[in-house]
Amino acid sequence: MRMPVVCSLLVAAAAVGAPVAALQAPASMTFRAARVFDGVTGVLHRNFAVTVTNGRITFVGPAEGDAIDLGDVTLMPGLIDVHTHIDWHFGPDGRYGNRPDGPRETPEQRDAAIAANLKATLMAGFTTVQNLGSRGDAALRAAVADGTLVGPRIVSSLGQLQPGTRTPDQLREAVRASKTAGADVIKTFASGSIRDGGKLSVTQEQLDAVCGEARAQGLRAVVHAHDPDSIVTAVKAGCHQIEHGALADDRAIAAMKAAGVFFDPNIGLVLQNYIENKAKFIGTGSYTDEGFAFMELAVPTLGPIFKKALDAGLRMPLGTDAVAGAHGQNAREAFVRVQAGQRPVDALISATSLAAESLGMGATLGRLAPGYLPDIIAVSGDPTVNIEALRSVRFVMSQGKVIGR
Ligand SMILES: [Zn+2]
Repeated sequence: MRMPVVCSLLVAAAAVGAPVAALQAPASMTFRAARVFDGVTGVLHRNFAVTVTNGRITFVGPAEGDAIDLGDVTLMPGLIDVHTHIDWHFGPDGRYGNRPDGPRETPEQRDAAIAANLKATLMAGFTTVQNLGSRGDAALRAAVADGTLVGPRIVSSLGQLQPGTRTPDQLREAVRASKTAGADVIKTFASGSIRDGGKLSVTQEQLDAVCGEARAQGLRAVVHAHDPDSIVTAVKAGCHQIEHGALADDRAIAAMKAAGVFFDPNIGLVLQNYIENKAKFIGTGSYTDEGFAFMELAVPTLGPIFKKALDAGLRMPLGTDAVAGAHGQNAREAFVRVQAGQRPVDALISATSLAAESLGMGATLGRLAPGYLPDIIAVSGDPTVNIEALRSVRFVMSQGKVIGR
């Protein structure tokens, strides 16, 4: 890409400077692009400019006057993935999981692997992720926020709440403990893994306790649920968002629609990535031949389930459930959505303004509009027509700073 002088200087400085975020951006920058997609309307604006001043977007409108010309690109809000596992990575033996017979991973190797995941995700245009999640996320979230680590803004559950045999009182206590620890969201489970058949694994009372207490604490609760019984149980419990739903049927879709809950079906990346990397996962936990057989059977059913949910009018923010091997490929979720029947522009909205709304951040993220946070990307081509344009990210501004490669 031809880059204007000022922009190349910024990028060059970012590329050599360490840490990247130490780069002092000018107080005000105006970018002009051939096309601008604002993240919320289907309208593609031609020859528009976006001004960022002191950490906020202050202008979006027709380009006139001085501007950094980004050229023949589409400028748009940074993408959001509402379901990742950013810390999952392959170990020094190239495989997933610390095997007793394998080489021990050092803390430095682990830190480097996670830093690489964060950077790959950001450079793929994803400027925010909801990580669902582990204790270590608190440090990552802080390091990204203060510029020590290059990565997407992190929203985290700081762990996963498996109801198991816990009583409702114990579960409510666990939700309060997560809140105290600084969780942004509660991640819980209503069914087993797809590798175990995805069947309902909790009682209504247990889920009522988790989602009810989350609501009382001002937190969202997102629920891993595959089969219809688990989805309906989560909807009845007043949970905020259903994850996966790989076995959702008409009854489950109708229940989600009636309750107005968000549905995050992961149809484009997670299972495909497991299958592509089978040799690196197999042999740990439920990553068995039988588990892989369940996943292989599920893949071709996901598109039709997504289409049914789309036709029913469900609100479906984009989430991938990205695990080891998948980081930086998050946009594949959007490609598969479009193959399954979603309009490219709606797939883009699902990864910008709708995803932000699902995170409760719709007033600050996911749009190019005055007052919004400057998480901005540019891609070659026009993703509102050809979604695969998301493969060619040419520019990334994260939290108001241009990120170099
Ligand atoms: Zn997950």
